[in-house]
Amino acid sequence: MPAADLVCFNPDCRKRCAIDAVLYTCPRCGALLEVANDYSRADPGALKALWDKRRASRAKIDVSGVWRFREMLPFVEDPAQIVTLPEGNTPLFDAPGAAAYAGIDRIQFKHQGYNPTASFKDNGMTAGATQAVKLGMKRVACVSTGNTSASMAAYAAAAGLQPIVFIPRGNIAYGKLAQALEYGALTIQVEANFDRILALVRELAEECGIYLLNSLNPFRIEGQKSIVIELLDQRNWQAPDWIVLPGGNLGNVSALGKGLRELRQIGLIDRLPRVAVVQAEGAAPFYRYFHGGGGYEPIREPETLATAIRIGDPVSWPKAAGEIAATAGVAEAVTEQQIADAKAVIGRCGIGCEPASAASLAGIRKLVAGGTIDPAADIVAILTGHLLKDPDYVYRYHTGRLETPSGGKIASAFGNAPVTAPDDPAKIAELLARWSGDPLSGHGAF
Ligand SMILES: *Cc1c(COP(=O)(O)O)cnc(C)c1O
Repeated sequence: MPAADLVCFNPDCRKRCAIDAVLYTCPRCGALLEVANDYSRADPGALKALWDKRRASRAKIDVSGVWRFREMLPFVEDPAQIVTLPEGNTPLFDAPGAAAYAGIDRIQFKHQGYNPTASFKDNGMTAGATQAVKLGMKRVACVSTGNTSASMAAYAAAAGLQPIVFIPRGNIAYGKLAQALEYGALTIQVEANFDRILALVRELAEECGIYLLNSLNPFRIEGQKSIVIELLDQRNWQAPDWIVLPGGNLGNVSALGKGLRELRQIGLIDRLPRVAVVQAEGAAPFYRYFHGGGGYEPIREPETLATAIRIGDPVSWPKAAGEIAATAGVAEAVTEQQIADAKAVIGRCGIGCEPASAASLAGIRKLVAGGTIDPAADIVAILTGHLLKDPDYVYRYHTGRLETPSGGKIASAFGNAPVTAPDDPAKIAELLARWSGDPLSGHGAF
């Protein structure tokens, strides 16, 4: 039996396919596919010792924070095919200021913005690009509101593949578009929203022999699993009470849940943390599904300034629903104002992140206020992307010019506008004497 298979995610189907079949959905029922790994011979003690030993290695695949754990990604048989930049090895921060803001005793941030292209997409893309190489593909494509395209373009370039990026017109943060262009992706802006373009590209991929690296690609989920493996390794295999993360297409929460279940199956952890996924109110189909009691309904016109989670019809929602149920997890939704303020608070801790990432802290604050999360709980939040991905948002917030997608005012409660000074040392000295260390209002400082 091979170490890994592709299996239909639908419990009533469970069709098995060869690991190297070029498939994104089940050929029998159309449901999502997942990689099923055989861990029957995995020994938790031996794995820990092996992974610790690799910390001293200088081999590229041992240095990678994804492939150091490659026994949990057994779909790769020939390590020479691995495409690595190398990714992972992201820090785990304590942030007392953010904990105080959320009303909790302590918080840890696992910051995936410290990846080669500055988002967690690299954890998945290293696995997706490796599978593309294994399959002998020449062209890879994705539809993306930003970080997926930046990551795919980089890994394709590194592997000598040709990247094609489809983006919705006018809805992209410049830091991300800049990356796709710089890494050499053919970038096609289409006059349609994300969900429509995804349907279009799925048709094209089959016709044109292009390998799709969107989040429905099951190998990306395998790579993203490593975020929680590395997190537990950093915590010496002590599971937290909660892991909280933002949700867009819901691939990351699916990967997190799968990783946790596999770690428990192997015996590397003895209990599952609860998982909370946080959406923006204007793009919260999963939150509505979770709280609605009815069926799942996509949202036609999703709106949020947090472009990385501006998704109306998340492809991975059935997997996410299963993982949230398996961990006794919850779904929450937060406003644009709550995201913006939480983001500024994370910045004041010297950490910083992009808007979507801050939904996690905003969500924790709301879940604590509502009594779902105990203030004394052991909580880890995943910061998904880097502060510099969306500098325009940052500047607008700090100068009081940030508006919601519908034109509403966003207050700069933690604003820090630049101050203009005359060419006069005495005046500047006087300003410095008055300055308490807190941000000044940029207007009328003189
Ligand atoms: C992709 C992305 C998300 C959303 O992740 P999903 O897997 O689509 O739910 C959140 N934050 C950032 C920064 C992202 O790039």
